[in-house]
Amino acid sequence: MATQPNFDSLKAALRGELIQRNDSGYDNARKVYNAMIDKRPLAIVKCKDAADVIAAVNFGRENKLLIAVRGGGHNGGGLGVCNDGLVIDLSGIKYVHVNPEAKTARVGGGCTWGDVDHATHAFGLATPSGIISTTGVGGLTLGGGLGHLTRKYGLAIDNVLSVDMVLADGSFVTADEKNNKDLYWAIRGGGGNFGIVTSFVFQLHPVHTLYAGPMLWDINDSEVIMKWYREFIVKAPDDINGFFAFLTVPPGDPFPKELHNKKMCGIVWCYTGPPDKAEKALEPIRSFRKPALDFVGPIPHPALQGMFDAVYPPGYQWYWRADFVKELSDEAIKKHIEYGKAMPTMHSTMHLYPINGAPSRVASTDTPWAHRDVTWAEVIVGVDPDPKNKDVVTKWTKDYYDALHPYSTGGAYINFLMDEGIDRVKATYGKNYDRLVKIKNKYDPNNLFCVNQNIKPVATEADLQPA
Ligand SMILES: Cc1cc2nc3c(=O)[nH]c(=O)nc-3n(C[C@H](O)[C@H](O)[C@H](O)COP(=O)(O)OP(=O)(O)OC[C@H]3O[C@@H](n4cnc5c(N)ncnc54)[C@H](O)[C@@H]3O)c2cc1C
Repeated sequence: MATQPNFDSLKAALRGELIQRNDSGYDNARKVYNAMIDKRPLAIVKCKDAADVIAAVNFGRENKLLIAVRGGGHNGGGLGVCNDGLVIDLSGIKYVHVNPEAKTARVGGGCTWGDVDHATHAFGLATPSGIISTTGVGGLTLGGGLGHLTRKYGLAIDNVLSVDMVLADGSFVTADEKNNKDLYWAIRGGGGNFGIVTSFVFQLHPVHTLYAGPMLWDINDSEVIMKWYREFIVKAPDDINGFFAFLTVPPGDPFPKELHNKKMCGIVWCYTGPPDKAEKALEPIRSFRKPALDFVGPIPHPALQGMFDAVYPPGYQWYWRADFVKELSDEAIKKHIEYGKAMPTMHSTMHLYPINGAPSRVASTDTPWAHRDVTWAEVIVGVDPDPKNKDVVTKWTKDYYDALHPYSTGGAYINFLMDEGIDRVKATYGKNYDRLVKIKNKYDPNNLFCVNQNIKPVATEADLQPA
């Protein structure tokens, strides 16, 4: 058990709340989205503003506390909480200021994507993010960020214009094209390693009503659908995003009764082009194989972003594995189908997110995201509400991953990793890893921010590979 520092001075410095182990809100405050994670920090600081963040960072450092930073709390590996340390919870730093003329938005470090989409939609604008609206802006963006708008407008990091952040020494800086350029490079994919972002400025794009939604087919059609999809998506215009999934149809509205609880394969489309060209754009797939369920149609952007929220509320058991994939061979497809048909629970799934449009036109050293030449970010997630099924979903995920990993390019989307060790982190950053270490050495030499996919500072520059 860690020694308990006296938190009085921190408490007095805050606008927000400090919650300790004996406080009534403690168990609620330490919870993260993934119920497989059950950690007990000494205290949680619910920050209200950047001043609270500075006070918490200084207190944590001076008292040699392990620090975890929490944005939306969605991280699969539970990186928004820690045992016996201090959690700096940003969820109270919530505001979105849209500048419709410049097409930008300043977003508080504790916002969720639902907050951002709500605010920008009023102006017919949006920025690329993920596919579940309760995910935090902070963690998703700092790791990369991919979703329905990715092929058209790039990763979330490709749309970050500027950040304000608190560094390990408690100082407050801006990082952008002009200020602290090394830091600006590092935070666009390097995660929470370099400090705590209190606000982001994003580039927005004209997005209002999309032509989007899922098409589903019988799981026995998976082979023909996957083979069609692998050809289609590499040639598709940027206006068409479509991620492939194995899934089980939820037993309820709006799904037809005959499909309830059926394992299926599907593609979730998002067409960003002119509305009058939408049907024609997706006609090739409808005429190739008529879907058993076709929910693709005009939909406001925030509605698309919240489409899967009800299926995945907080508090379920989640086990994650991921890889980057360049090509889907016939052999890999066979294995995918074997494990797709064996999905152990209704919520377990596998997604292949295409990143071969706009993201591929950013150079692999322009941001820490080194794998700009892959076609998909693959993620396998075993999920279930019942803790009793924890082992079952974990085993299926691990077995599936082991079977498919040989067909991957090495590395994975950093936000889809659990605690998988330094080699996976290095494989993900590839040739950019050493540059990240150098920047970590400069801004956080004592690794104060270590509860993340950690880029460890090194003792001397000589330990680094030549650039
Ligand atoms: C249901 C679900 C759906 C998802 N869908 C997608 C998707 O479509 N696309 C996608 O790209 N990802 C997706 N993800 C993965 C997601 O990007 C990661 O889980 C991400 O870490 C979540 O960010 P968060 O702020 O909610 O997490 P947290 O658990 O709060 O934080 C995660 C990490 O980020 C750091 N961090 C968070 N905010 C800040 C900040 N402001 N400053 C510094 N460090 C910070 C934390 O210290 C921690 O290390 C999904 C996750 C879930 C659970």
